[in-house]
Amino acid sequence: MGEGFPRKGLYGRLFLSRIPYPVPGARMPETPMKEQSGVSPANIDPEELAKFASLAPIWWDRNGAFKALHDINGLRVGYIDGRVPLAGKTVLDLGCGGGILAEALSALGASVTGIDAGEEPLAVAKLHLKESGAKVDYRLATAEQFAEEASGRFDVVACMELLEHVPDPGSIVAACARLVKPGGDLFFATLNRNPKSFLFAIVGAEFLLRLVKRGTHSYRRFVKPVELKGWSQACGLELQDLTGLHYNPFTRTYSLGGNTHVNYLMHFRRVS
Ligand code: SAH
Repeated sequence: MGEGFPRKGLYGRLFLSRIPYPVPGARMPETPMKEQSGVSPANIDPEELAKFASLAPIWWDRNGAFKALHDINGLRVGYIDGRVPLAGKTVLDLGCGGGILAEALSALGASVTGIDAGEEPLAVAKLHLKESGAKVDYRLATAEQFAEEASGRFDVVACMELLEHVPDPGSIVAACARLVKPGGDLFFATLNRNPKSFLFAIVGAEFLLRLVKRGTHSYRRFVKPVELKGWSQACGLELQDLTGLHYNPFTRTYSLGGNTHVNYLMHFRRVS
């Protein structure tokens, strides 16, 4: 599968030559790396983890590489809390990174556990607790591993901006379904896969507006809502809501609602 325009020749010196071109069609299944410890197949892309590890020190820099996550945090937390009031709930933040979402969920009165497969982001998350005084239980684990030990433990599972970074997102969804209690709620946020999302999320956000660092996303890993719904239904989850997340380059603000062509959030409930 092609990852970019040829670097030499006609396009060689052009700005466009740096943009990875999209390949239309279905998301290609990838072979997950096998877990060395033998506990479960680790659904991890080492390159993705390395990317986040290198940026971990600036995770809480509001104007740094994770500015977009800081900017959308209020919206996504408000979305979750608006649909399922979080006070007193047990919440899992899966793929918590440096803890931007986890801390905000905890501030609403939830008892929050954050797991991540990356040591560096997790170290930053733990360190930040000392600064903020927030309370979050952070663990180094993959979704699949953690589902073995904490099955059915959470009222709410939030998995935001992770599915588009793993080889097998369906496996993450299945682990989330195991981790939530029957009747509990799940929230996913990710990027759709179509020509418009390539234009907006890669060309626009990474190359033109620089909203996120170049190379943050790989188009072929984007997830269509219909795919996410399919994986979820297969493990007993029922769709409650689907909404778009939009950036307005003129006002430099984000908003929820409208179409789901690029960024979107999905709310599911475990019915079985
Ligand atoms: N969910 C957070 C951080 C998103 S960045 C937020 O939205 O604010 C993606 C995070 O997923 C990174 O911290 C990375 O280390 C982690 N990650 C990547 N692959 C993972 C996997 N297979 N299991 C758990 N975490 C993973």
